Amino acid sequence: MMQLFLPLNFLGFVYREIRGALANIERMFSLLDKHPMIVDSPQALDFQPSKGELSFEQVSFSYDERPILRDVSFKVAAGKKVAVVGDSGAGKSTLIKLLFRFYDVDQGAIKIDGQDIRHLTQDALRRAIAIVPQDTVLFNDSLVENIRYGRPSASDEEVRNAIKLAHLEQFIDSLAQGWDTKVGERGLKLSGGEKQRVAIARAILKGSPVLVFDEATSSLDSRSEQAILSALREVAKGHTSLVVAHRLSTIVDADQIVVLSQGEIVEQGNHQTLLLANGLYAKLWRIQNEQQHAHLSS
Ligand code: ATP
Repeated sequence: MMQLFLPLNFLGFVYREIRGALANIERMFSLLDKHPMIVDSPQALDFQPSKGELSFEQVSFSYDERPILRDVSFKVAAGKKVAVVGDSGAGKSTLIKLLFRFYDVDQGAIKIDGQDIRHLTQDALRRAIAIVPQDTVLFNDSLVENIRYGRPSASDEEVRNAIKLAHLEQFIDSLAQGWDTKVGERGLKLSGGEKQRVAIARAILKGSPVLVFDEATSSLDSRSEQAILSALREVAKGHTSLVVAHRLSTIVDADQIVVLSQGEIVEQGNHQTLLLANGLYAKLWRIQNEQQHAHLSS
């Protein structure tokens, strides 16, 4: 019997190892978003930014010779919240891709705490920034492991705190298996708003000095949107935040709003000063308000 048990036991071990490795490869590809062109230089620094000040300095960028961003300059001071708004296709998400070095800028520089991000290891850069993307990737695993992914060494206590701050507590309590519920392709499907809150909980656990929030284009119901906004306010405390916003109502409290049009900054200021300036921002604000009123009265 023992002679049979040992090889079977070994096979079981091999099966679990392979399954684990496949799951890791799956995670790796979904997270790296398949951008292998950027390679660390041998002198790249493993720099740990402390303040998290961001600066875009005269950044220009083209996709296959099609100019997308032209001479874009703005700063996000440490601990402040800056929002980028503009028409669809203005280049907002491209700014985030450049910040993550999915591509390198053609001209100018992006800096964190004064360091050009091209001089940092990609590991250091990704540790410095937590992102809440438009569409969060969920692994075929339990909800708690999906959240803990933000920092695998986090204790249960820390995970519980992140769940609370991300306003996921009520949702998790409503599930029969609580945080052990399987999610992802082969498990429970989460709504867009719930997925974004999982990403917020991950970002809280990660604890990076810079937070990037790429707001989903599709609108959420207003309760879900409010839950996300108040969760974001929790994460933003003590962090530098860069928000790409589609709904202007979500960024009226931003310290600075950068308005992009066809890859160029056309206005910068806070909500009040931009309304007074009566330019593109004021126009976008009026259009969104009209749409909202039309929606409410239909
Ligand atoms: P939206 O509000 O619709 O999300 P956006 O302001 O975020 O738009 P970007 O996604 O930055 O706009 O896109 C800017 C322009 O770059 C668009 O015209 C888009 O078609 C183009 N673009 C985006 N990604 C690529 C790519 N990988 N290759 C080529 N062109 C691209």
